Amino acid sequence: MTSTIAAQSTPVGRGAIAIIRLSGPDSEKILKSCFKPLSGKKMTASHLTLGTLEAGEIKDRAMAVLFKAPKSYTGEDMAEIHVHGSQEIATKTLQFLLKNGARLAESGEFTRRAFLSGKIGLNEAEAVGDLINARSTAQINAAYSALSGATSEEIRGIYAGLLDVISSFDAAVDYPEEDVEEMLESEALEKIKELEGRLIRLARSYEEGAKIKSGIRVAIIGEPNAGKSSLMNRLLGRDRAIVTAVPGTTRDTLEETFEHKGMLFVLVDTAGLHETSDVVESEGIRRARAELDSADIILRLAESGKSRPDITGKLIIDVSSKSDIAKGDGLNVSSVSGEGIEELKDLMFETASSGQVYGGGVVLTSERSYSLTLRALSSIKDAIDEMERASLVDLSIIYLKEAARSVGEIIGASAGEDTLNAIFSKFCVGK
Ligand code: GDP
Repeated sequence: MTSTIAAQSTPVGRGAIAIIRLSGPDSEKILKSCFKPLSGKKMTASHLTLGTLEAGEIKDRAMAVLFKAPKSYTGEDMAEIHVHGSQEIATKTLQFLLKNGARLAESGEFTRRAFLSGKIGLNEAEAVGDLINARSTAQINAAYSALSGATSEEIRGIYAGLLDVISSFDAAVDYPEEDVEEMLESEALEKIKELEGRLIRLARSYEEGAKIKSGIRVAIIGEPNAGKSSLMNRLLGRDRAIVTAVPGTTRDTLEETFEHKGMLFVLVDTAGLHETSDVVESEGIRRARAELDSADIILRLAESGKSRPDITGKLIIDVSSKSDIAKGDGLNVSSVSGEGIEELKDLMFETASSGQVYGGGVVLTSERSYSLTLRALSSIKDAIDEMERASLVDLSIIYLKEAARSVGEIIGASAGEDTLNAIFSKFCVGK
């Protein structure tokens, strides 16, 4: 028999309101033992109702809502009580619920129940945790994408595809006399390669997602006095880099972050690229060159009429500085008048977004899912090798089953108790 759990879902402390939740078969009975709708009002499922709370020695004017299974977060009967946010009221209410048939929920138990009842996949449960712990707009957006279903749908699709191939292989092994094997193999190989491609894209979406979380690295590169430090300050909206008319002032790379349209950028000002005998400046130039490798986007900056550093590869945006004095090619910006600055930020955003392999919100955000994807990929590669090399269906089935197990574990289709404990213990009580 499933127990009914209760917990305070809002932070402990004083607030305008506090919310205490119940989930499990006795939710309705326990709620009704302490909450009565105001006269003339009736409790209807999924509707917030005003009423009176009487929990032992305390009383409050409160709101409550009842959700009937399966139409609730956990998929079970659930109730929420919204009390006035004195911690004393919240604590006393919870104590009352615990005395009247509920037990205190463990960390993440509500979400764990949502997963166990099939309401959400394991990867979505993790996204809920990420959303609660998010500290930047980019993290919120990434977690929301993982939660919004497109990612799970893609993973489920890959999982179903793998099971499909496995079952047709199983059939071929069971009925060899049917002589369908050869045709089946070439078809299956094609299908497996298609699934491999989808897994590769999934893995890349994590690498991108991680980059979005940690920030897109943008290096400003140009000759001394091109206006790099001024541009950095203008993009940041504050003075960070030292600006002088003396060439070679920036002797080391300098980095600062800013957000644009919810995307985090790490802006890197570098020493001007030119020939010099100054030891300190040479070291700065060496670091600027190293930055060319680690940056995701390079802003190639030059005044009108001056040459740009010769760099290829990478995502490069050509920018002409000091447009208030003279216009050049590429995007014209002026750190003095502000011309082109917003356009440059938009272009950086678009350039960073254009490299993304997935549209439609498919993005893998958890490290666990990523490593399982990599594991599935390695198994699928073994299966393909086996088929191409020796056409050994029996062996490739073993590898395909391994791959399916790994993909299944991402959504929780084959996750063990240890995995669940590791994931849900990171949640707070009440979620
Ligand atoms: P860096 O060596 O490439 O970092 O260049 P700085 O940002 O230090 O700028 C070099 C000189 O150009 C300074 O005297 C700046 O005041 C001037 N400067 C930079 N950007 C602009 C601009 O957009 N317009 C004008 N008129 N002067 C600028």
